[in-house]
Amino acid sequence: FEAIEKQVAEAPKKDLSAYKNVWVFAEQRAGKVMPVAIELLGEGRKLADEIGVELCAIVLGNNIEGLAKELAQYGADKVYIAEHELLETFTTDGYTKVITDAINEIKPEIVLLGATHIGRDLAPRVAARVDTGLTADCTKLEIDPEDKKIKQTRPAFGGNIMATIVCPNHRPQMSTVRPGVMDKAHKDDSKCGEIIKLDVKLTKTDVRTEVLEIIKTVGELVSLTDAEFIVSGGRGIGNADGFKLIKELADKLGGVVGASRATVDAGWIDHSHQVGQTGTTVKPTIYIACGISGAIQHLAGMQSSDVIIAINKNANAPIFDVADYGIVGDLYDVIPQLIQSLDKV
Ligand code: FAD
Repeated sequence: FEAIEKQVAEAPKKDLSAYKNVWVFAEQRAGKVMPVAIELLGEGRKLADEIGVELCAIVLGNNIEGLAKELAQYGADKVYIAEHELLETFTTDGYTKVITDAINEIKPEIVLLGATHIGRDLAPRVAARVDTGLTADCTKLEIDPEDKKIKQTRPAFGGNIMATIVCPNHRPQMSTVRPGVMDKAHKDDSKCGEIIKLDVKLTKTDVRTEVLEIIKTVGELVSLTDAEFIVSGGRGIGNADGFKLIKELADKLGGVVGASRATVDAGWIDHSHQVGQTGTTVKPTIYIACGISGAIQHLAGMQSSDVIIAINKNANAPIFDVADYGIVGDLYDVIPQLIQSLDKV
């Protein structure tokens, strides 16, 4: 640590005074703002207010002016819009170039992206090109009241510790943020921010890939991040058929089925259902963990749920440490009783 501190102290100091405002990369697919962008606007608002700067969104695509208005309604003071036919669909090259150019020109102080497939692809490339650092996969962001720098917290060493990281000598300070962790911004139709069209300098030679066709996955659509009720099954269900009972309870509640990695690795259910560090981070109103031990990597993805109910036959299972309500028993006895009681409601 001493060596790192010395290196940081001795590094040549850049003039960072030109960097201002908080930027949110507003990910969109087929003209629809992704939920993570709205979460980032919610979090970005808090950060911008604490520093006393503006909250800005940057959105890329083609014919997306309507989206810019929507982002302003979610609280962006300024929306930078980059429209070009080469931005019609996402490409790593096209998006990286346009965002890099915009950062170099306008100089934001903080840039937030969702830790989605697209965000994870873009953020390190952009960070390298603008010569700054990146904290990936953050679960908490806060402003240091003294120096107004952003403190970025993320799980490290397989989720066993939480690391808080700062970016002392470079700008912008960049983070990718896990979807489903931050509170969403509220929409206010009366709000209208300033919409600024970026001068997009993009030619066919800048984009080395051509998207020929988009094939939507035929698998079951699981929207864990938006679900209000999640019923998750762990190894305790015994086999793939056990998910039928989990689904029955989830259906009764109007919720969706989640899963631990053990069940995904066993091939009992698709990875799109996995909750946790290497799955999806969720924040439902009610999370019911059935036959899940409560390994730290699973907790990392669900412990900020509003209410956690755990069903486990081992009274010492770590899941009970985070549960608001715990039922010690065999899930094959408990869940049918829960379903029966719900039938009576
Ligand atoms: P187990 O730990 O085997 O627990 C099964 C539980 O079921 C036990 O507590 C048992 O008492 C209970 N039980 C058994 N029978 C019954 C019954 N009939 N009724 C009631 N209870 C019963 N895990 C994730 O979930 N998500 C992740 O994203 C994730 N990422 C990881 C990333 C890394 C780098 C690593 C190293 C691990 C990761 N893991 C992840 C794996 C994690 O460490 C655990 O191995 C996993 O969560 C265990 O799943 P489980 O709780 O279903 O199984």
